[in-house]
Amino acid sequence: MKIQITLTCPQCKSTNVVKNGKKKAKKQNYLCNACSRQFIGDHALSYKGAHSHTITLIMRMWVRGCGIRAISVI
Ligand SMILES: [Zn+2]
Repeated sequence: MKIQITLTCPQCKSTNVVKNGKKKAKKQNYLCNACSRQFIGDHALSYKGAHSHTITLIMRMWVRGCGIRAISVI
């Protein structure tokens, strides 16, 4: 059974992404061909605060006037 994950660049949202070696912690590193940004995929993150969905949620709450203490509680 194959599982396919579509990766997008966190900076320019391009799907033109290639593998670019491994980090020290044996996590797959990716390189965006459009803007040359290196990143680790969301599926391999150990710190869930850096997940792209969490960052988008925090930015939405912040724009709508939620304070930083309220966001951290949520
Ligand atoms: Zn990019």
